Amino acid sequence: MKLRENRLIEGELTWFVTGTRSRLMPEMLASYVAGEWYTAPDEGATVVDAATGDPVARVSSTGLDTRKLVEHARRVGGPALRGLTFQERAAALKDLATYLDARKAAYHELSLATGATRRDATGDIDGGIGTTFVFSSRGRRELPDGYLLTDGDLEPVGKAGTFVGQHVYTSLRGVVLQVNAFNFPVWGMLEKLAPAVLAGVPTIVKPATQTAYLTAAVMRDVIASGALPEGAVQFVCGGAGDLLDHLGGEDVIAFTGSAGTAAVLRGNAAVTRQAARFNAETDSLNCSILGPDAVTGTPEFDLYVKEIAREIITKAGQRCTCIRRALVPESMVDDVIAGLRARLDKVVVGNPRNDTVTMGALVSLQQRAEVREAVGALARTSEVVYGNPMSVDPVDADAERGAFMAPVVLLCTDSERSESHEIEAFGPVTTLIPYAQTDDVGALAARGNGSLVGSVVSYDPDFVRAVVMTAAPHHGRLLVLDRDCAGESTGHGTPMPQLVHGGPGRAGGGEELGGLRAVKHFMQRTALQGSPAVIAALIDRS
Ligand code: NAP
Repeated sequence: MKLRENRLIEGELTWFVTGTRSRLMPEMLASYVAGEWYTAPDEGATVVDAATGDPVARVSSTGLDTRKLVEHARRVGGPALRGLTFQERAAALKDLATYLDARKAAYHELSLATGATRRDATGDIDGGIGTTFVFSSRGRRELPDGYLLTDGDLEPVGKAGTFVGQHVYTSLRGVVLQVNAFNFPVWGMLEKLAPAVLAGVPTIVKPATQTAYLTAAVMRDVIASGALPEGAVQFVCGGAGDLLDHLGGEDVIAFTGSAGTAAVLRGNAAVTRQAARFNAETDSLNCSILGPDAVTGTPEFDLYVKEIAREIITKAGQRCTCIRRALVPESMVDDVIAGLRARLDKVVVGNPRNDTVTMGALVSLQQRAEVREAVGALARTSEVVYGNPMSVDPVDADAERGAFMAPVVLLCTDSERSESHEIEAFGPVTTLIPYAQTDDVGALAARGNGSLVGSVVSYDPDFVRAVVMTAAPHHGRLLVLDRDCAGESTGHGTPMPQLVHGGPGRAGGGEELGGLRAVKHFMQRTALQGSPAVIAALIDRS
């Protein structure tokens, strides 16, 4: 009998007996409520390793007191955070990031169970910790050693100059409820937590069930670090229950996930009647546009093909920013397919614990079934030109127990129809959409109905300008990629803490990140009016 160990959470080992498939029941993940760890008494839902199908953890929030959670944040966490100046909050973030950074090797091991390769995990784990460092340093450089932020200059109102106005930001008195997607269990939590801490607002983290064990491991360290005051962060592992019913006008719901779930949460009375702030980062049909100048042999052609292949492979295409629509001049379609084929033929799909593997598993068998179904729907107006969505031969893994899928490229045969612009296959899938005239490109890009990110790969400034002017209103971020910036480019799919992340319409209509803009999402802007002396004194002493 062969034993294999799976390290679940710091200090604990669960032994799985392979071969016979008998095993110990995996650990129930605990929530963190009002200063204590809470473990649900029922069996909960068992989540399994994406690559092996072995149980990893159980998840349940049954019996969790959601009212106590929100009250603790408001009565304990909020006042404690607001008692710190911006500078002190920024210093706390640095302590937190340093603490987590020293422990990240354990997160990387655990991340393999999500199906992510070690390279994929860098974006999630190091990306999340790095984002925390960035917010700390922006806070230390750009925020005052006080409690109040000014917005713009003094506004003269009275003709004699005795009456003026000044916009100011103060911390919301409520709580930030994060509801996160499965694909970034670490980054998704930290990119929202860091600006909320700077803003002086406590957070409740609710990770997606499927990968909650990784968020839980990091959360244990967040609490153990002591970097943040008690109540500044709490954790709900499992369903949100009636949590939203306790929220109101001073609170923020920061959602990341599918457009369908966003619509449900947006309809809650906390939002529709109490006017809780609701920020949604949802799915989108992001496009990447190849310029007609970027023919085979140019650096831009190679950059385009490389970028699309990388987007498909990274996290097995499970990134909200992944290129779903590749808009290509009609005459260049065959060259792009050939270029992609050359790159994708080298992809090794399999168990991410095997070092030769370059693309891991989807997060679950259910996710794979959904992606296959979406490919089937896309195929109504497209043909598969690379890969077989129904068959894969993974390295070091069982194709039926692990959620593996081959990279798939489709070629749209009727771009007038809606399928390729509306159906998100949240996996290693992209659709090439040929365009005949450069004038068509902007309209095709806009058919995504609002996207997180788009890219244009071209060295022709006139083409780039025309595309940017038509596409920008439909996008939260636009990458113009060419030979001059490629060396330092962070890529189409990677949100950066300095730049806004979010998009209009289908992308959710929300906005995150963007340096200190993110902090202000958790603060109230107030127009102060009075005499110049009174306004100056208020600002000086706050
Ligand atoms: P999802 O099914 O919508 O779930 C997202 C989160 O919502 C999970 O934490 C889920 O909890 C929770 N949830 C579901 N129903 C709820 C309810 N009635 N009340 C409260 N919470 C509820 O999305 P997903 O499958 O995790 O993520 C994949 C999708 O997210 C893709 O469509 C992708 O494009 C999108 N995404 C967008 C971004 C972005 O930044 N724009 C980033 C990543 C992913 P449970 O897991 O416990 O059900």
